[in-house]
Amino acid sequence: MQSFEWVDAKSVAEAASLLAATSAQAPVVAKAGGLDLLDLMKERIVRPSRVVNLKSISSLGERTLDNSGLRLGTLVTLAQIERDAGIRSHYRALAEAASHAATPQVRNAATIGGNLLQRSRCWYFRNEHFHQVAEADHSEHQYHAIFDNSETVMVHASTPATALVAYDASVHLTRSDGSSQSVLLSEFLLPPSMQRDRDTAIADGEVLTHVSVPAITAGTRCAYFKQTERDSYDWPICDVAVVLQMSGDTIAAAKIVLGWVAPTPRRALASEELLVGRRVDESLASAAAAAAVRSATPLAKNAYKVDVLAAVIKRTILTAR
Ligand SMILES: Cc1cc2nc3c(=O)[nH]c(=O)nc-3n(C[C@H](O)[C@H](O)[C@H](O)COP(=O)(O)OP(=O)(O)OC[C@H]3O[C@@H](n4cnc5c(N)ncnc54)[C@H](O)[C@@H]3O)c2cc1C
Repeated sequence: MQSFEWVDAKSVAEAASLLAATSAQAPVVAKAGGLDLLDLMKERIVRPSRVVNLKSISSLGERTLDNSGLRLGTLVTLAQIERDAGIRSHYRALAEAASHAATPQVRNAATIGGNLLQRSRCWYFRNEHFHQVAEADHSEHQYHAIFDNSETVMVHASTPATALVAYDASVHLTRSDGSSQSVLLSEFLLPPSMQRDRDTAIADGEVLTHVSVPAITAGTRCAYFKQTERDSYDWPICDVAVVLQMSGDTIAAAKIVLGWVAPTPRRALASEELLVGRRVDESLASAAAAAAVRSATPLAKNAYKVDVLAAVIKRTILTAR
């Protein structure tokens, strides 16, 4: 690993201004929990000359839950989300997603901001010896996309993102001049690319300060399920978040989001339409699952994901009910 300078940022403004000074010759990167960053540095995929530590800015670790919704400072860890009783009772799908990500050790260090900004887990991308392999040559694509896969077959890595997109979450970004913007998470996450140096719409010099989630209304039911190959910690074959707005026994509105099956978390719009105005039972959940996978375009080695996904969608809808 090449040597680099370490700076403990004292404020968001200072961090943003240090990050704005990045260049191809002297890359500057932010560090939150450091889990993904260190992996990328060890594989020589990221070679910073300066690392800006955000953990020295304590205000970025604050979280609030009130009538206006949930606000998670970027440094809130997955373990804190998992254990927060308020989040678990109001945003169960998010608490479940956080608690099924990675291992307890990782969740203690991994921050929600860093989690959303992590790069794809595609093994061609992650290994320095294969890092430059053209996307068309990603022939070992067992875990890759089964939807929207004509441009890239890589999938976005974050699993909490699946739940957060289902809740219409936004991310908030601040620049060194103090200006800031909010972006819907569904628009912030970009299809992973070997050519770009990020899988999100964050720009040089921007600090992700917090994630906000709209308030949950009465009658909301939600569930999250992550399907892995083995029972101990693992990356998903797919994950699914379902948020149902109930009016009595009838579904008034539905959000179904599919993770790890497309380059970014994907709304299952056909299934959502099918659910509205109906009461949930096994046959409706099966029909909604079938509608979701109808447009799948699996690759030679990942057709199995279509059946797994359909089963997980059905299970998650029934659990939400
Ligand atoms: C064994 C294992 C299993 C895992 N399983 C899962 C899983 O199932 N689901 C899942 O989602 N993840 C999983 N992960 C990934 C892990 O959750 C992420 O690596 C972690 O969440 C990244 O967060 P971090 O705080 O360490 O980010 P960092 O590594 O510090 O940062 C990640 C990126 O974001 C940038 N950055 C961080 N914060 C900011 C900010 N506030 N503003 C601007 N830029 C910023 C950094 O420069 C870096 O590029 C797993 C990891 C391991 C090791």
